[in-house]
Amino acid sequence: MRTRFAPSPTGPLHLGHAYSAMMAHDMARAAGGEFLLRIEDIDQTRARPEWEAQIYDDLRWLGLDWDGPVMRQSDRMAAYDAALDDLWARGLLYVCTCNRRDIQAAMSAPQEGVPTHGPDGLIYPGTCRDKPQPAARPADAVLRLRLADCLAETGPLSFEETGPAHAGQITIDPARMIAEVGDIVLARRDMGTSYHLSVVLDDATQAISDVIRGEDLFAATQIHVLLQRILGLPTPRYHHHRLIRDADGKRLAKRDDARAIGKYRADGCTPADIRQMVKP
Ligand code: GLU
Repeated sequence: MRTRFAPSPTGPLHLGHAYSAMMAHDMARAAGGEFLLRIEDIDQTRARPEWEAQIYDDLRWLGLDWDGPVMRQSDRMAAYDAALDDLWARGLLYVCTCNRRDIQAAMSAPQEGVPTHGPDGLIYPGTCRDKPQPAARPADAVLRLRLADCLAETGPLSFEETGPAHAGQITIDPARMIAEVGDIVLARRDMGTSYHLSVVLDDATQAISDVIRGEDLFAATQIHVLLQRILGLPTPRYHHHRLIRDADGKRLAKRDDARAIGKYRADGCTPADIRQMVKP
């Protein structure tokens, strides 16, 4: 078994991160496997070296030792570019010039029961899909995935989930995915890549057997499985765990500095106290 913890260095690690990292670490160690670390710093406008340093420090304090070198997404742009070139050459991407307002205006009047948002945000109405495309992939553009074409190419998709909320073999329904996910952004103009593309390429390069992460990413997993298939990459097992919530039942976010591991450390808590706090 090989698991990973993949934080973004855009704020302090909080109790939810500690829970996720401990679970990925403990599951790997219990199986005699490996636990890897990856710094998801593609958003260079928000990533800070201080937060990255704090991540290493907090993980060491928690007693979570990781195997091998740390992977940093900012070192991986060549791999992301190569995948985008491949998808572009296969006609599976198109340039999108819509801004948020354009998308909202083009979306048909919201009907009851019809979702407007999917795991990648607003469900794109396809405005730019049939516009003529440049021969070469523009480096500085928003690129969307032709979801229906991809699904036609892959055939049936499924993945194995071991998390308690959805345990079993999960089958992806193509019609539902088209309606509820839509043509996702694979390259953002400000990043040259996207979370979905990077996470899939990196999990494959790190040879992750089991992706252990929060329940908030369950709906995005169908995107990852589709990308794995069209890029010829293996699909790992997935385990989505419950989210750690604050006293009001809201999930913790980066801004919840009160729940930062660093704050508990400063207050004299031990790693055992942290484990106790996130116990189901
Ligand atoms: N970097 C993501 C986060 O901090 C995690 C991505 C993943 O585990 O797939 O929420």
